[in-house]
Parts: sequence; structure tokens; C-alpha cells
Amino acid sequence: MIVPMLALALAAPPAARPKPVAESSSPRLVVILSVDGLGFARLEQYRPWFVAGLKRLLDEGQVETACRYRHINTETGPGHSSLSTGAPPRVTGIVANRWFEQNPDGTIRAVQAAFPGAPGVPGSSQSTAIAGLGNLRVPTLGDRLVSERPGARVVSLSAKDRSAILLAGRDRRHSVYWYDQDTGVFATSSAYDADASARAVVEAFNGGLRLPARFGFRWDPLPLSDAVPDIPPSARPVPAPGLFEFQVPVNGIGFPHDYRLNPAGYFAALYSSPVVDELVADLAIAMLEDNRLRLGRGPGPDLLALSFSAQDVVSHRYGAESEENLDVLRRLDVQLGRLLAAIDKASDRRAVLALSADHGFATIPEAERARNPSFRGARLVLGGRTFPSFVDRLNRLLASDLCLDARARPIYGGEGWNLIYDRGALPLRTVEGACGPPGREVGRDQLDGSLARLAPRFFADEVAEVLPVAERDRWNPSDPAVEFARNDLDLERSGDAFVIPRPFVQMADDAARGSGHGTHHEYDIHVPFILWGGAFRPARSAAETTPYDVAPTLGSLLGVRLSDAVGHVVAPAGGPPSEAR
Ligand SMILES: [Zn+2]
Repeated sequence: MIVPMLALALAAPPAARPKPVAESSSPRLVVILSVDGLGFARLEQYRPWFVAGLKRLLDEGQVETACRYRHINTETGPGHSSLSTGAPPRVTGIVANRWFEQNPDGTIRAVQAAFPGAPGVPGSSQSTAIAGLGNLRVPTLGDRLVSERPGARVVSLSAKDRSAILLAGRDRRHSVYWYDQDTGVFATSSAYDADASARAVVEAFNGGLRLPARFGFRWDPLPLSDAVPDIPPSARPVPAPGLFEFQVPVNGIGFPHDYRLNPAGYFAALYSSPVVDELVADLAIAMLEDNRLRLGRGPGPDLLALSFSAQDVVSHRYGAESEENLDVLRRLDVQLGRLLAAIDKASDRRAVLALSADHGFATIPEAERARNPSFRGARLVLGGRTFPSFVDRLNRLLASDLCLDARARPIYGGEGWNLIYDRGALPLRTVEGACGPPGREVGRDQLDGSLARLAPRFFADEVAEVLPVAERDRWNPSDPAVEFARNDLDLERSGDAFVIPRPFVQMADDAARGSGHGTHHEYDIHVPFILWGGAFRPARSAAETTPYDVAPTLGSLLGVRLSDAVGHVVAPAGGPPSEAR
């Protein structure tokens, strides 16, 4: 009955409404911390090694143990955009680190998610950066914070440009800095007009770097210390000699690594080492300690976004299972120990931090197979120096199947797990052959059909299926891969087909070495999510969460609403139920 129910609702006690957050308990500082490429299983495996910051977060934080991305193309640009906006790529528009779009004349152009200074991109690095900012289709937590809370500031730092940019957002007022591999200092873009105090901190920091004097030319692993207890066999990396022939020798092979061996120079060598994480931590601490910037002590709550890149860059070269990767994480643990102390001090213990990752990581498939003959895993070579590439091979198959000229390239290119056709050249025409008389038109439908049939047959070990974008209304909803493709689907940017990889298959630019990420499989999607500080207490929760929950959760603490977010607010475990949950 309607009337009594209405009366009941009107009579509900005020306690049923969300309680206003008491001013004294609201955070002064909110921190988003991304460890680039860190899967949850890897963090758990190496837990016995951690003695500082990662140990504190695991011991003192609310650890969400079932946090998984729900999109394919688990790459750095998409992941950081999801962390900052609370939404998957179908909403953010950042469908990969780079994608292809069609020009009005039908030709195709490559677009960087946010990648200033990319080689081969015309124009200055700064104009590219501005284009990159415009690619993000929705506002971030930082964008909403500075527009809703007067005096609030956003500082975003990383070794990678796209991580710093996409964690921060589009507002010009953000202070956004990343490590420049050419010059060895922290740089920004003219798309941002950083806070003058933040700018002064970076200028002083850059001026005092003296990199070779401080870090030298050798990377030795951290020694075992008394603080590290006995390490069980399950927490040990793959012994180095078993990986040597599968590693990309960017800084040489095996410890000690020699930064002078890097063909791109000393500053680039540091980018493929744990040094860049220490630099990002140092700059963050300098920001927190600066008495003019007063981060976490200002008129509004501040947001500090940090992305630590070394775990990703080193894993690409040396493998996520390598001794090099373990050393990066042990050193990151030390740096995060310093960082947490500085956060506590600056915010007077009124900070809330969320740790997560933009994606996980796969091991090196060839090395895994050498240890385990029954292991199934492989790589497809998309670009790089190897010829023919996966796209080249697909084009040959399509040309043969559809009676096209042998030199035809109906697929223009691929990025992530997307392929785009050479749309301006369609329809193609058949040549003399088994298909009957020449000159018949071959359009998108024929390409879709041929590709979907041939790719899983000729690449049976690598490709599970092809999902043509034009057939998206007919994708099988009970196919688990379909949700991951839909969440990455942007009709202007996703090209013409998703290639769905089998487990442990990666898209690589090296034919036999290094490792990567990007799939919809467990090792790429299952990432850490730890909430630390404020009302969050030591707890482990196995409730299903996603990285899209990070921004809404932090937004709820800041009193900022993200209307485009699809994630949910994660409440303190055992605490009062949250309105938004
Ligand atoms: Zn990444």
C-alpha cells in the first residue's frame, strides 16, 4: 500500500540519511599511488621481502584481494585513465596507449593517448601533449576537485609522461611532471600552468640532481639485510641464468647492470632502472616538505597522484619473474617507506591513500616453456624490426582468401588488440583467381568474415577469436571475452576488429625476448587495491572490486562527485554502511 509506505519514509529517523563527514575527520590529503604493471599475485608472492612502505600498506591498509579490470588492452594509458576517472576505456576514450582514427578523407592517422615528444609525431612535444589531454573524454577526480573545492591543488608525478598526465587530468591548474629520458630532469607541458610554488620545487630539484655523481653507472641488487627474514622458495624470483637468453639487454645482461651499455644514453638507462622510482619519491617528498606549497596543509584538500614506472619498464626488458623485477620492488618498498612518513608528517596523519596498478604483467612465455614443457603461451609480433609482422601475415592471408592483389594491405595497422582496416582504400577489387572474374568489390563485410574465420585457424595457438566491431550487436553475451571488448569499445578509436588472445599470449615488438601485458587474462587484470589512512583499518576483503572503484571511493572522501564513473564507493571494512555502496 502506497500511503503507509510514504508515511514510513517520512517518519524515518535522520540517522538513515548519510551522515555529513565531520570536518575534523575529512582528509587534508588524498594520494593515488599506482605501481605500473604490478599484478596482485606478484605483490603477494614477494610480501616476505618487504620491510618498509609496501609492508606498512599491506599490514595497515584495507587490502581488497579481488580487484580486477574489466577491459582488454590493459595498458598504461587506459589503466591510469581508469584510476583517475572511475571508468573503463569505453567511457574515458583512452582505449590503448595509441590508436588509429580515420581522417575526414578516409585516410588513417595514429593518435597517442598522451605521449608528448613521441618520435615521428609532427609538431613540438608540447602540441602533442595538448592533443593528448583532449583525448580524455571525461573529467578526472583531480579535475572535479579543483573545480569544486576552492584552494584544492593537484600534483601528479611519474617517470612516464602519459601516467602523470592521465592520473592528473585536463585542468590547466594541475602541477604535472615526468622524467625526461633525453635530459634527465623532470619536465611538464605548456598544456599545464602549474602552481608557482610547485614549479619552484621542481626547478630547485632539477638543479640539484647531479645524476651520475649520485647513482653512478652500476645497478647492483640490494643486499639481504637482517630485516629480511628467511625467504621461502615460493617467494624467490626465477634464477637469472634461466632468463638470460630471453631478456632484452637494454642495460646489459645480469647483475651488475652497466648503465653505460644503454645505446640511448645514461638518462635513458636510468629510465630502465629502479633509479627513476627513487627520483619520483624524492620529488614527491620535496613537494610534501615545501613550506610555500604546503601540500596537505592548504585551504582545500589536496590530491597527490604518483605513478612508479620502474616495475613496468624493467619487467618489459628483463621479465616480471626476474631478479631485476624483485630488486625494483624491494627498492620501491624502501622509497614508499620514506614517502609514507612524509605523508603522515605533512598531513598531520590526515591523509588517505589508495594503491593500485594500471595493469598486471605476464612472464616471458619462451622462458616459462623452457621450465615447464606443458606451458602454453606465445607471442605475436606487431611491430618492431621483425618482418613480417602479425598484420603483414594477416594481410597475406586475407589477400589470398579474398582474391586480392598479393600486395594488398586491407588491414592498415594494429595497436593493442585492435586492428583497423585501410578504410579509405575500401572497397578493394578482386584479381583473376579462384574467386571468379576479376573486379568484384571486397568491402568491410567480406574482410570481417574472412578475418574472423582465418585468424583463429592460422594462429590457433595465439588467437581465440576475432570480434568485428561492425558485428558488435551480435557478439555472444555469454562469451566472457565480450565484456572486456565492450568495455574498451569506442567507435571512433577502436578500429574495426578486436583480436581476442589465448592465455599467456602477448603482442610484442620483439620476436623472442622480454615480456608484456595487455590481455583480459587474470595476470593482466588482477591488480592490488589497498586503502590506507582515515577510517580504513587493517583488513582483507575478498569482495569483488575493480580499479574503477578507486576514484569514486576517494571522491566520496573529498565530497566530489564523478558523474561519469561506473565504479562503486568501497567503504571501510566493518565500518558503517556507505550510502553509495
Ligand atoms: Zn603500465
